[in-house]
Amino acid sequence: MSRIRRLPKQLAEKIAAGEVVERPASVVKELVENAIDAGASRIVIDLEDGGEKMISVTDDGEGIDPEDLPLVFERHSTSKIRELEDLYAVKTLGFRGEALASIAAVSRVELVSATEGQSGARVEASGGERGELKPEGAPVGTRVSVRDLFFNTPARKKFLKKQSTELGHITNLVQNLAMAYPRVHFELSHNHRKVFMLPGTEDVRERVGQFFGGELARDLIDISHDEEAMSFRALLAPRQHTRANTRSQFVFVNRRYVRDTLLHGAITQAYRGFIESGRYPVAFLFLEIDPAEVDVNVHPAKLEIRFRNSSQVYATILSAVRAELEKTWPRTELTMDEGTLDERRARIKQKIGDFFLRSEKPTRQSSLWESGAGAPGHPSGPGFLPGGGPPGAILPVRGVMQLHNTFLIEETDEGFRISDQHALHERVLFHEIGTKLRQSSIGSQQLLSPQMMAVTEQDVLTIEEHGELFSRVGVDVKPAGPRSLAIHAIPQVLSPEETPAFIRDVLDRLEEETEERPFDERLRDLAAALACRAAVKAGQALSGPEIESIVKRASDARIQETCPHGRPTTLYFSLGELERRFGRK
Ligand code: ADP
Ligand code: MG
Repeated sequence: MSRIRRLPKQLAEKIAAGEVVERPASVVKELVENAIDAGASRIVIDLEDGGEKMISVTDDGEGIDPEDLPLVFERHSTSKIRELEDLYAVKTLGFRGEALASIAAVSRVELVSATEGQSGARVEASGGERGELKPEGAPVGTRVSVRDLFFNTPARKKFLKKQSTELGHITNLVQNLAMAYPRVHFELSHNHRKVFMLPGTEDVRERVGQFFGGELARDLIDISHDEEAMSFRALLAPRQHTRANTRSQFVFVNRRYVRDTLLHGAITQAYRGFIESGRYPVAFLFLEIDPAEVDVNVHPAKLEIRFRNSSQVYATILSAVRAELEKTWPRTELTMDEGTLDERRARIKQKIGDFFLRSEKPTRQSSLWESGAGAPGHPSGPGFLPGGGPPGAILPVRGVMQLHNTFLIEETDEGFRISDQHALHERVLFHEIGTKLRQSSIGSQQLLSPQMMAVTEQDVLTIEEHGELFSRVGVDVKPAGPRSLAIHAIPQVLSPEETPAFIRDVLDRLEEETEERPFDERLRDLAAALACRAAVKAGQALSGPEIESIVKRASDARIQETCPHGRPTTLYFSLGELERRFGRK
């Protein structure tokens, strides 16, 4: 008996639509890209309820000829390519001719368009069924309104996240398109409230400033590189602006925002040695390459691309960016931190001095998240520095010393151990913060005047949503405008200078989440980020008492071998091993 059936057209349409239209942001992407392809200089986006209820995009582009209007909702109908060869030289953002068809299959769409010298017309489609064309007076350009997204695909509708999350996706997306097309005026409103209005500008640096603040934009290192096969411009952030992931590297290939491991890798690699390992630089890369050298047809949303000669692209970017950074930061002043050595010492002294003043009874009970047991097979208590003297006391008889301002080496009963000072201190702080959080909340310190921080619209939404999480660790931070935050109070363990970086780390993590997570789990992440930011850094010279405080608290807390990020904290060397290695045994 035959079992293969051709699917009914409507069902086939819905399935195909799923490829292109995943969420409201996908609709916005397709509509705005169409407006850009039509040569618009002004694009206005209105949303209701995170785009679920309504998305409308109005442009002043060339419009659609009334003769073409009956075709716009037909699958595989496009004005952008005609034959196979064109596919290898696409200069437009769209070319598959399936976006409007897909959108119309899963919503109610209304499109009004007019071209120069012709009166306008309107056409509607709902659930894949197109209505009649009707004349309608309209300015040159196109307006597409999409209502009730997924009204006929309840399963997909169920997968939509909170409105603020969907709105966050949309603002990110529009931000990326706006950076690729700085000359275009963009406006975005949500529920009749303006989210942003960006006047067109000649300079992409200014557009970057519209999103990330003038200060960062001013400090960006600007490089241009030209060769026959490819050219690029890169705006590189100063090295103190590092992030926990590559999400703050904005990469555009032929004015298309992409996430490309190769290009992120080239940028990150170029900063190697200038920033802490495990951190990522902030950068904006605009690459122009012969369309024949890159395949954009490998991903439904064209977010990923494939280069024909990827190693060449990688090497060119890496070496050009690296050369510029080396010019900017000559090797001799290669340090991990700002300020002179003495200033840094003074800062750290104060930080560590604070801990002495707040000296606590050692807590051996397990913290919020971990068992407090020492690492199996390794001595934690006895061999670890004997009880320390008063603050400022000289080092105990048992030797501890700092190597290369980065490692602490200690004699133990069984041999010696060597710790990474940052990792060890981070681990200590993580333990202490966890214990405090379990008892109540951690100490907070009010700032005399609020510290302002430039962020994106999405960050502001994230802060509104997760205020409680921050207040548990002693951060009082509130939105202070569409793109800025005001920090009113900070955790006692953290310096004011480190606080924005800490908030940035947490925002990055929260915004990366793809699903809801329990509050406690998020709190644990916050504690880890806080410990990391509050800990002394590699490359910082420490005084005897400072070293002693870290080591003693590590011993009190029976710190395990790994820091919260999973890197090792301490390596152990036994006398037996030393004797063997020296041929004594
Ligand atoms: P594609 O962009 O891949 O060609 P779409 O389904 O997005 O496919 O659009 C189909 C066609 O409708 C486009 O090729 C274009 O001719 C026309 N079109 C869509 N939106 C606009 C717009 N805003 N302005 C002018 N023409 C448009
Ligand atoms: Mg399109």
